[in-house]
Amino acid sequence: MQKRFCACGRAVYVRYGWTGAVWTPEFIFSARDNGARLAHCPACGRSLEIDSLR
Ligand SMILES: [Zn+2]
Repeated sequence: MQKRFCACGRAVYVRYGWTGAVWTPEFIFSARDNGARLAHCPACGRSLEIDSLR
């Protein structure tokens, strides 16, 4: 689990999920959250991309 930051400063957590072929980054709300994945930053709505997070 990695903690990364959106450009707006909102912390998001990254984990890697196995799709059966490749490991893909999944963005989640907090370290405790095993559920919902985020497609967009909950604070600013920016699309979450691993390369755009700090
Ligand atoms: Zn943001």
